[in-house]
Amino acid sequence: CGIVGVTGSDNAVKILLEGLQKLEYRGYDSAGIYVNDQSGQDYLVKEKGRVADLKREVGPEVHGSTGIGHTRWATHGGVSVANAHPQVSQDNRFYLVHNGVIDNFQEIRSDYLSDVSFTSQTDTEVVVQLIDKFAIEDKLNAHDAFVKALTVLKGSSYAFLLMDREDPDTLYVAKNKSPLLVGVGDGFNVVCSDASAMLRETHDFLELLDGEIVTIKPNEVKIEDKDGKPVERDTFHVDMDA
Ligand code: GLU
Repeated sequence: CGIVGVTGSDNAVKILLEGLQKLEYRGYDSAGIYVNDQSGQDYLVKEKGRVADLKREVGPEVHGSTGIGHTRWATHGGVSVANAHPQVSQDNRFYLVHNGVIDNFQEIRSDYLSDVSFTSQTDTEVVVQLIDKFAIEDKLNAHDAFVKALTVLKGSSYAFLLMDREDPDTLYVAKNKSPLLVGVGDGFNVVCSDASAMLRETHDFLELLDGEIVTIKPNEVKIEDKDGKPVERDTFHVDMDA
């Protein structure tokens, strides 16, 4: 029920966990983070219950500069560590957090993914496996595989934040009828469901519109409309204390 992301900060783990804690008011049953340190080390930690329970699972070795985090309100599949997000593709390449519901996930699973062995009962895992499938079979990069996967989702509500192990300083974002903002920093950028999650890091945010694809690196936020055309957008300032 809440999403956070960060790229370009050595404090990624702390930023994600504190951000998730700020989103606790939205309600949830489990939480998780994925972080990558850009030199081949990465960590996936998920836990049922409170963000405090997740924090206890995050050992001192867990570090990185780019990562994503999620608090889940289960809609498809019970409350379990396997069903918590981030959800992962079967080759451990793609990591995805998702708020919302994918209405046609059963059809996607039988039409495209009958050869995949799933490790969760979530609608979200179907999307991350689909991205991986398009990346491999159509030889698409993460951006193009993500865009292609989005065209298959029908009548759904979502906010997505995707990471690719092969491009570990980049966050890919898309939304439809679910809130999501980009927060702009100096040498780093963040993503959040709600500005309150990131006010410790920045007060400058970019609104995102349904159908846009956003590619975020430590020093760059690239927004494209649904036809792939670049979009210019000014930040707005949130005048509120953390
Ligand atoms: N439908 C997804 C699930 O059940 C995401 C739920 C949410 O928005 O937290 O895992």
